Amino acid sequence: MSLAPAADRAYFAAFLDLRGKPGVVVGGGQVGALKAEALLRSGIRVTVIAPQACPRVAQLALVGALRLEKRRFQPGDLVGAEIAVAATSDPSVNEAVSAAARALRIPVNVADNGALSSFIMPSVVDRAPLQIAISSAGTAPVLARKVRTMIEAAVPFGIGRLAALIGKFRARSKQRFPDPEVRRRFWERVADKALAGHEVDLEAELSGPASAGGFVSLVGAGPGDPELLTLRALRVMQSASVVLYDHLVSPALVDLVRRDAERIYVGKEQDNHALPQGEINALMVRLALEGKRVVRLKGGDPFIFGRGGEEIEALLGKGIAFEVVPGITAAAGAAAYAGIPLTHRDYAHSCMFVTGHLKNGSAQLDWQALARPNQTVVVYMGVGALAQICRGLVEHGMPRAMPAALVEKATLQEQRVTEGTLATLPGLASGAKPPALLIVGEVVRLRAKLAWFGKKVTEKRGQEPFSRSVAKLDEKGS
Ligand code: SAH
Repeated sequence: MSLAPAADRAYFAAFLDLRGKPGVVVGGGQVGALKAEALLRSGIRVTVIAPQACPRVAQLALVGALRLEKRRFQPGDLVGAEIAVAATSDPSVNEAVSAAARALRIPVNVADNGALSSFIMPSVVDRAPLQIAISSAGTAPVLARKVRTMIEAAVPFGIGRLAALIGKFRARSKQRFPDPEVRRRFWERVADKALAGHEVDLEAELSGPASAGGFVSLVGAGPGDPELLTLRALRVMQSASVVLYDHLVSPALVDLVRRDAERIYVGKEQDNHALPQGEINALMVRLALEGKRVVRLKGGDPFIFGRGGEEIEALLGKGIAFEVVPGITAAAGAAAYAGIPLTHRDYAHSCMFVTGHLKNGSAQLDWQALARPNQTVVVYMGVGALAQICRGLVEHGMPRAMPAALVEKATLQEQRVTEGTLATLPGLASGAKPPALLIVGEVVRLRAKLAWFGKKVTEKRGQEPFSRSVAKLDEKGS
């Protein structure tokens, strides 16, 4: 290995402890504000020198976060400072700051000018006390920022808290678990719990008897489009050792699970349960007790027609730690991707989610409540009983002409929306297959204007304002 500095690797990476030390930022514009804020975040006592200050700098000065001296820079300004930054639009001022700092041998950064700088300010992913600094040696700041965004998404926000916790108890954990393998598993479980937001009492964990192993994340995978996963869902999926998933979870989503994790399909299509609920619960408990990192992946949101509550009760019974990661429920996904807002000031002030799953051949629905005006009704699992549901709503007072839509495979490329009325939809959608959602209400009209998914985008000039075109739709509709 060569230790000679490569031309493009000439920077020394270091973190400076400048807490409580004075620093000077010359320039009070947007860039100066950014630099000043970065220094402030590290506890530096900042003075900004600038004849004029942008509102952001002025505000920081007003609340006493920094000192603002409204005047031009003089070389003597850096005496006593331990760090200097120049961020003015005047090259001669920037040069003067750089020269003064170098004469005093204090580190200096000049915005967008590597030649005048003795250090560069990296892009930082801040999870204090954990910090990740990224530099492209000044060659491609845009790229450094892109990498930062990627890392931001990958590093959980709770990890800083965790780092502090581990630091405090590392020595103790070595005494308690001399076997490194056992210790590693202990810390992994602690990490899972802490990142899930649990209070972790390490004092108790390290002195009491070993607690039940494993950890279960009940994760909502959203309606289908993998882009609709939450950051947390993705992270949890990538740290799983075993995943139990439903038929509603699309293959593209299962692909996002950590590569060497075990995948178990537990099915659950209507009337075709691959595994009965009791067996799913038992399997989940067994895997967790083996010390596995279990992810229970469910379509949409686990707490909306997802039996998430029942699965958690099974875990509670065995003292197994768990978390619930919410997902975008099918109604929210279908509404957005079909262009049907579920509420709207002029049409619907409330929205009901109900299941149309038949028990003993009839949907057990509170028809009176469903048929109320100014409300949107979303029916999950309603394909089989579509005709019956539409008829029931009319029989309980909804107009036959009430708009209704059936959204099949919402948010997926194969999404299909059939629009009609309570009278016509059952006929129009007779070939529909689950998963599909029925949306009933005046809001369905808005789709004519708001549908966007799968549409070619063409720029239209002089398009009429939204409110006027909706008014027109109303005229046509009623
Ligand atoms: N927990 C899930 C719902 C499970 S019940 C959630 O929050 O979305 C299963 C029903 O959800 C299906 O019968 C269907 O009505 C609806 N559903 C789920 N995914 C869907 C999708 N991509 N498109 C349309 N409906 C969907």
